Amino acid sequence: KAAVHRICSGQVVLDLATAVKELVENSLDAGARNIDIRLKEYGSELIEVADNGCGVAPENHAGLALKYHTSKISTFSDLTSLATFGFRGEALSSLCALADVTITTRTAAEPVATELVFDRNGRVASSRKVARAVGTTVAVGKLFSPLPVRHREFTRNVKREYGKLLTLLQAYALISTDVRLICTNQAGSAGRSTVIQTQGGRSVRDNIVTVFGTKFASSLEPIEVAIGDSHKVTGFVSKAGAGCGRASGDRQFLFVNGRPVEMPKVGKLLNETYRAFNSLQYPMAVLNFVLPTDSYDVNVTPDKRKIFLHTEADLLSALRTSLEQLYAPDKY
Ligand code: ADP
Ligand code: MG
Repeated sequence: KAAVHRICSGQVVLDLATAVKELVENSLDAGARNIDIRLKEYGSELIEVADNGCGVAPENHAGLALKYHTSKISTFSDLTSLATFGFRGEALSSLCALADVTITTRTAAEPVATELVFDRNGRVASSRKVARAVGTTVAVGKLFSPLPVRHREFTRNVKREYGKLLTLLQAYALISTDVRLICTNQAGSAGRSTVIQTQGGRSVRDNIVTVFGTKFASSLEPIEVAIGDSHKVTGFVSKAGAGCGRASGDRQFLFVNGRPVEMPKVGKLLNETYRAFNSLQYPMAVLNFVLPTDSYDVNVTPDKRKIFLHTEADLLSALRTSLEQLYAPDKY
């Protein structure tokens, strides 16, 4: 039984980045305005995600990390995929199978918080009252330690996994205009250093400045493509012009309704249209596809990053036209 559980778990939490992604999305789902990600040894020793969201009510403590336990389908029944990232109740149960999980949480209705220590099966092993402001802290210690082979691979490649995590956090930092997101890491005997910090309550362009700097932001051009009256693509792409692109495609951030997603065909389209103009560089892009929630499916892969767009062909061709107007105006 435990083995089956672990095999399934490996799918939602694939690596450091997907582990933190699930926690950040839970904080966003909980309505947090502040999300504080604290790492020790790049996340291999400890990942702590603290938020000022709604907290978990005491009657839900026991089931919190059981497989398929979710509060979201009933709570947000009418706007499931639009309002919340999670709805399958797999992340916390997976993390419990893969790491040492402690959750400290308090709702506005309670005078103090409760610290819950979970076992590998997602059951509460112990709990006690502690002081904390309203919100939730999920601490994930020694990720993958129950799987020795995976754990060895993780510690060997921790810098690469950390790099992937930072790219993912950059995506949330760029798109989250009403959330303050901060990520710090403490490694070796060095002090804690801040790796990402956004202010919240500002525009995507302001977030680009915060994350990548003013110079970079000024190499971007706003783009807005409307497809019918219910579909649009909005954001920023590199300006047509030498010296504004990147030597690799590492700064292309794609979202569907504010959710970071992977859309290889869009990346390919961006590169093709841009490279027709400048063959040595890749364009940067921060593009949010604003779509009706019934026009795509996010459950294609367990980590929910791949997405199936029902109107993909139309979106791609409209985007191609706009990009060509930007990058190859002489064609028009
Ligand atoms: P899902 O997000 O798919 O519902 P998870 O395993 O990620 O499943 O989380 C299980 C449940 O735990 C959530 O439905 C939610 O009720 C609660 N939860 C998890 N993280 C938080 C958080 N940061 N704040 C408030 N509630 C949380
Ligand atoms: Mg979740």
